[in-house]
Amino acid sequence: MTQVREGKHRQNLFIEMHLPSESYSESASPSRSVPVRPVIFVVEDEEDIARLISHNLQGAGYEVQSFVSAASVLTEAVREMPALFLLDVMLPGTDGFELCRHIRQTPVLSATPIIFLTAKTSESDRVKGLELGGDDYITKPFSPRELVARVRSVLRGLGTERAASEVLRLGELEIDVSSMTVQVQGRNVMTTVREFRLLEYLAAHRGRVLTRDQLLDAVWKETPFVTPRSIDVYIRRLREKIEPDARHPQYLKTLRGIGYRFEVPK
Ligand code: CA
Repeated sequence: MTQVREGKHRQNLFIEMHLPSESYSESASPSRSVPVRPVIFVVEDEEDIARLISHNLQGAGYEVQSFVSAASVLTEAVREMPALFLLDVMLPGTDGFELCRHIRQTPVLSATPIIFLTAKTSESDRVKGLELGGDDYITKPFSPRELVARVRSVLRGLGTERAASEVLRLGELEIDVSSMTVQVQGRNVMTTVREFRLLEYLAAHRGRVLTRDQLLDAVWKETPFVTPRSIDVYIRRLREKIEPDARHPQYLKTLRGIGYRFEVPK
């Protein structure tokens, strides 16, 4: 089933490859947290697709390191510190979900953005990918242009264009917008880019009720696949990270049937 589907996608991809490619004029600006040519780790066992991805990402100004399996990805990543991982879900041996779990458990890599790439389209797979710490999810067949746009969007979420040292101190929580770090009672808490963006947005609008749609618009612009259900996944993950008791949240309050509100505990 998968073979057939992926085979068909490959054809689609080749058709796109021969179309005039869009030129990407946006240049990578030097910044503290993203190198001039960010390195992207692509883990994809289908060589044609991997080549297509590399070609397009390189054309967009990224450096690409390709892997056909999960085998040496972690060791290489610890050495190279890629700006982003693009993981195919269905890989021989360790699959993309499992690899994502390993990446998130590796302290120096735990905040590196991860985009999943897969032929699977079911809602439960999407949710699983997000629960494991994925930042985005692209389903095959995809257009190379869309892929590049998603990569850009996730990397832009790193907030390199922000004003320096804006720190929100709320209760026991410290949210540093410039370094994208979160501390709870002075202890560092690892978040993914999207988790951080969601927390930052809620905190910046504290006291206000925000609907799932508003949060989607604010944090997941340009990622049409994300559903309101995904917000719940992210909120749950954030609660586990920042709340003293995730089951009785003090910061991230649910307003049943409406959305969420950030509150500063007394
Ligand atoms: Ca595959």
